[in-house]
Amino acid sequence: MGLTGKDDAISRRIQAMVHRVEDLREADLYFYNQGVTELRGGACVLVNGREMGMYSSYSYLGLIGHPRINEAAKAAIDRYGTGTHGVRSLAGTLALHKELEETVAAFKDAEAAVTFSSGYVTNLTVISGLLGRGDHVFSDRINHASILDGCMMSHAQFHRYRHNDPDDLEDGLRQVPANVARLVVTDAVFSMDGDIVDLPRLVDVCRRYQAWLMVDEAHSVGVLGKTGRGIEEHFGMQDAIDIKMGTLSKTIPSMGGYIAGKKDLVDFLRHACRGYIFSAAIPPAPAAAALEAFRILQEETWRVEKLNANTHQFISGLRGVGFNTLETQTAIVPVLCGADERAYALTREAQHRGVFVLPVVSPAVPEGLSRLRATVTAAHEPEDIAKTIDILGEAGKRIGII
Ligand code: PMP
Repeated sequence: MGLTGKDDAISRRIQAMVHRVEDLREADLYFYNQGVTELRGGACVLVNGREMGMYSSYSYLGLIGHPRINEAAKAAIDRYGTGTHGVRSLAGTLALHKELEETVAAFKDAEAAVTFSSGYVTNLTVISGLLGRGDHVFSDRINHASILDGCMMSHAQFHRYRHNDPDDLEDGLRQVPANVARLVVTDAVFSMDGDIVDLPRLVDVCRRYQAWLMVDEAHSVGVLGKTGRGIEEHFGMQDAIDIKMGTLSKTIPSMGGYIAGKKDLVDFLRHACRGYIFSAAIPPAPAAAALEAFRILQEETWRVEKLNANTHQFISGLRGVGFNTLETQTAIVPVLCGADERAYALTREAQHRGVFVLPVVSPAVPEGLSRLRATVTAAHEPEDIAKTIDILGEAGKRIGII
């Protein structure tokens, strides 16, 4: 009998999860939702009362905690209060939102931009707002869950093509009648593996098949391109992407998501996306923080250079001690462990020695490909990175991963 007296699938699902969590807790292998109690400088955090080097952060340029960003957020609260008056279309639009959207548009070299309350919501509401029954949507097999969910919610015919394989995409597009709407969606940097989409070939296929192209730049803004503008700058391409999606929760250390693109597209989204029409706007403090972060990103260009140097050191060091880090070329570095238990064991050893890093296990990744999903940022110093590589290397050998 289940926990509420019901003997059904819901009860069994809950019980199975509760038992799995209990087992992991007993073995000191449970790392889900550990509370960070303090940010200490750019690259250190306090977790469970211990200071640790932060190797799970999305703040790729080390902007989290930047005094100017903190000040901007505080000033916005003093001016506007802590919330908005409602959804954007009623009283929820602040001058701050308009300024943020103009800044995003200029940064992404686009005519206009619109913001949403999170990156997740952006993918969900934009993909489902653009598409309907009879349309076709094509998604890379390892795209982020929010893209997958948006595709499923859209009621369009859903195709998943082989990872970063424009030929497989083309095979799919060829099957679709010419007069039918098709949207291709991809991550720019894939969030589990850290590899970069083959944009030039993808754009070529999309143009030949008259498909719209939407690219999620969650992990490429601040990371790719000489000035951190993302995937188009990385490949020296302009106007290659129809729908430029990004989030304000990673390099930009705040909360929210956006789409940048042609003015008509952005106007359409403001009137068609349910996640915009029926949900409150980004509150003033995060909006102001995001705005200030875009300014700093453009002024402090050394951060992108430092991130590149740190990324190179981290990846080559981990490969040097024998880890498989797949095809990553970016700040997301998968450290392959094999079975889930090994990823948990490596996490435990790393955390015991002051490296805050977290595991990704099945079903989030295929069985046997469990890993640490380590990230490096511009806030790290070369000597800290070297020490972290040593710690992971020694632990990896003890556990038998390398
Ligand atoms: N897209 C990608 C590729 C992501 O990795 C994430 C977050 N992990 C999102 C979208 C969702 O963004 P947010 O966390 O800002 O909702």
